Amino acid sequence: QPPADLAPEKIREVEDVVSRGFFPSTYWELLNRIAAYYYTPLIQVIRVALPPGLLGRSQRRLRLKPENIPNGAENFLRSTAALQILKILQSQQDGDYSFKYLKRQVKGFDWGKKQLLERGWAENYLELPRYSKPQTKLAVMLVNNGLYTKLNKRQQEILKLLGDHGGELWLTECVEICKTTPPTLRGLEQKGCILIEEREILRREQSPLIAGDQAKSLTDAQTHALERIRSLNGFAKVLLHGVTGSGKTEVYLQAIAPLLKEGKSALVLVPEIGLTPQLTDRFRARFGNKVQVYHSALSEGERYDTWRQIFMGEVQVVIGTRSAIFTPLPNVDLIILDEEHDSSFKQDSPIPTYHARTVAQWRAELENCPLILGSATPCLESWVSVKEEGSRGEGEINNLITSYQSTVPSLQYLSLPERINSRPLPPVEIVDMRQELQEGNRSIFSRSLQEALEQLQERKQQGILFIHRRGHSTFVSCRSCGYVLECPNCDVSLAYHHVEEGTPQLLRCHYCNYGRSHPPYCPKCSSPYLKFFGSGTQRVAQELNKQFPHLRLIRFDRDTTRNKGAHRNLLTQFANGEADLLVGTQMLSKGLDLPQVTLVGVVAADGLLHLSDYRASERAFQTLTQVAGRAGRGEDPGRVIVQTYTPEHPVIEAVKTHDYQSFCDAELAQRQALNYPPMGRLILLRLSSVDPIQVQNTAQIIATNFSDQEGLEILGPAPASILRVANRYRWQILLKFAADALPTLSDWQEIRVLCPATVSLTIDVDPINI
Ligand code: ADP
Ligand code: ZN
Ligand code: ZN
Repeated sequence: QPPADLAPEKIREVEDVVSRGFFPSTYWELLNRIAAYYYTPLIQVIRVALPPGLLGRSQRRLRLKPENIPNGAENFLRSTAALQILKILQSQQDGDYSFKYLKRQVKGFDWGKKQLLERGWAENYLELPRYSKPQTKLAVMLVNNGLYTKLNKRQQEILKLLGDHGGELWLTECVEICKTTPPTLRGLEQKGCILIEEREILRREQSPLIAGDQAKSLTDAQTHALERIRSLNGFAKVLLHGVTGSGKTEVYLQAIAPLLKEGKSALVLVPEIGLTPQLTDRFRARFGNKVQVYHSALSEGERYDTWRQIFMGEVQVVIGTRSAIFTPLPNVDLIILDEEHDSSFKQDSPIPTYHARTVAQWRAELENCPLILGSATPCLESWVSVKEEGSRGEGEINNLITSYQSTVPSLQYLSLPERINSRPLPPVEIVDMRQELQEGNRSIFSRSLQEALEQLQERKQQGILFIHRRGHSTFVSCRSCGYVLECPNCDVSLAYHHVEEGTPQLLRCHYCNYGRSHPPYCPKCSSPYLKFFGSGTQRVAQELNKQFPHLRLIRFDRDTTRNKGAHRNLLTQFANGEADLLVGTQMLSKGLDLPQVTLVGVVAADGLLHLSDYRASERAFQTLTQVAGRAGRGEDPGRVIVQTYTPEHPVIEAVKTHDYQSFCDAELAQRQALNYPPMGRLILLRLSSVDPIQVQNTAQIIATNFSDQEGLEILGPAPASILRVANRYRWQILLKFAADALPTLSDWQEIRVLCPATVSLTIDVDPINI
C-alpha cells in the first residue's frame, strides 16, 4: 500500500516481481552498506548490482525533425547552445540523443533545447524502459495415444512420427519433420493427444565440454592450507599467500568440493576475463555444470538468464569478475578472491566506486562464511591486516606487521612458499639498457634477450614477451614540425590501430573512442613524413618480425582479444604449439598457467616504474613478479629477462631477488611517513564540466569547505592527469585522513549542494587510480 501522502501520479504499478519473491535480507543489507560506505544513492547501487535489463529506466530524449529544418539553419540560431545541440544531433544517424548525454556535453542545454523546440526543429519524447524477457520456444509433447483410432490417417501419422522422435519436439521442428502446420497441431491438442507448451530457453555462455578431472594429491603446504581452511567455521578472512605456480587453485577446488556435496555454494572472483577461460575450464572439469560464469562480457540476455538461474539456486559455483560479487547465489559458504591484489577489482565509474575485496568482506560477514584472498603478491592493505595471532609460527612477518596499526579486522595468514614439485622460481636477469646503447646495440631488444629468442625455436620451447602499455603510448607525429595528432575532444594523442591486413589504418582515442583515418600529410605543415611512435605490441611485433622472421608470434592485447572467445582461441593456439612467442600487455600477468613457457622477457620495465601515483611501486612490483611467474611452471626450468634504464630502482632489486617481504617493509615505511593507505585513508572527489572555469571554481569552493575539518588533509584542487576528456574538463581534490576521522554522510550531502547542475561530482572512496 503506497503512503497516503504520495501524489497519485508518482505511483506506478509493479510490473514484475523477480521470480520467487524478494532477496534475502542479507542481500539488501549488503546493498545498503555499499550505499552508505561509497556515498551512493541506494538506487544506483541496485543498478550496478542487478543485471542490465532486469531494472529498466525511462529516458527523456531529444530528436530532430529534419523536415522542419531549413537549409543554412546555423545562421538562424543566435544561441551557441542551440547550435551545439543541433550539431551533435546531426552527427547521429537518427538525430536522436538522451537529455542526460546532451546536458553533459552542452553548457546551457535547457536554453538551447528551448530554442530548437520553439522552432519546431526538434521534439522531445520519453523512451520507456526496456525489460529483458526470458527467451521461450514452443514444445510439442505426445500425451495420449489412446485416442489413436478416432484419428484420421494424417493425424495418426503425425503422432507416430512424434513418438519416433522421443515423443517431444520443438514446434518448429515438429512442423518440419511431420510435414504439418501449427493449426493441425493445435487441432490435435484440442483432441487431447498432444500438449503444446511454452518453455524457457536459457541463454548462457557456450563453453566446450571438458573431460572430468580428479583431485590431485596435495603437497604438504597445500594440505596444511586446506586443513586450516576447512577448519574455519563462520566468518573468517584468510590470506593465501602462494608464490606463482604453488597450486593455489588446487586448494580452492578442494576447499569447495565438500561444500557442494552438502548443497552449499561458493563464489569465486577473478580480476579479468582474460584468465577466466583457463580457470573456468579447471572448475568445469572438476564440478561440471554446477559451475556458471558471470561477467560483463556476456551478452545482456546471457547475463539476465545466468543471473536468474543463480537466483533460483540452479548453480553452485559462480566464477566471475568484480560484478559477480552481486550475484544472488543462495547458501554461500565460501568466497574466494583470486589475485586479490589486482586493481581491476576496483570500479572507477559509474558510482558506486566499489572495490570487490571490500564488498566481498561484507558479504562473507553477512553470509557468515570464510573469505579467502589469494595472491603471490598480496596488496599492502591485506599484508598489513594479517593479524599477529593468526600468523604465529608462519614466519617473520609478525614483527613487520605488529609495528603498524591495522585498520582492517584480522586476516589469517596461510602460505604456499614453494612451487609444485619444488620447481624453483625462475632466475631474473636485469639488463641495463643504457649500457646496451653505450656498447652500440640500438635494438629495443638487449643482446641477452635476442640470444634467448634465437634459442626458443631451436629448443622447441615457448616464450612470453611483456610490453607495458598505458593508454596513449603510441602516437603519430610529424617528423618535420613535431605536430602530434590529438583527439579533438580530449587532451590525449590518438593511438594507432592496425585493424587487419588490408584495411585502412585507423587512429583512435582511448578515452572517448573518437576515430579517424591516418592522414597522408601533416595537418599543420603538409609534410608527408608523418611517423608513428611508441612501443605498443604492434610495434614490438613488427620489430620481432624484422629481426626474427622465423619466430611465430601471437599478439595478446586489447586489440586482438576484442571478439568473443578470442582469449580462449589465442591461448589454445599457443598451448597447441602453433606459435613460439606470446607478445602482449598486462593481460599476460594475470594468472596464465602455460607449462611450456620457459622464457619471459620484459621489454621496458620503466613505463611501470615512473607513474605519478603513490601506488606505482607496489603495482610495478606486483606486475613484474606476476609476469616473471609465468616462466618455468612446467618440467623445463624458466628464465626471466627484465630490460630497464633504471636497474638501481628498489622495485627492480626486489623483483630480482623475489623478495616480497623486504619490498613491503620499505614501502610500508614510506606510506606511513606520508600517511597514505593502508595507514591512512583517501577519498578522491572528481569534478567535471564542459566549462573549464566553473569546474575549477567549484573545486576551489569545495576544498575551502573542508579546510576547517580536523585531521583532514586536503591535496588540491588540481587538474586531473588528463585535463580534458570528451570535451569535459576534469579537476580533483584528494582528501587524506586517519581511518577514524571519516566525515559523516550529512557533510557529503552539503557538498553536493555546492555543485552547480553543470558540474558533476563523483566521490571515489578508497581510490586506486588517482
Ligand atoms: P597458482 O594458482 O598458485 O599459480 P596453480 O594452481 O595454477 O598455481 O598450479 C600450478 C600447476 O601445478 C598447475 O598446472 C596445477 O595443475 C599443478 N598442480 C597444482 N597442485 C598440484 C599437486 N598437488 N600435484 C601436482 N600438480 C599440481
Ligand atoms: Zn608537420
Ligand atoms: Zn577523445
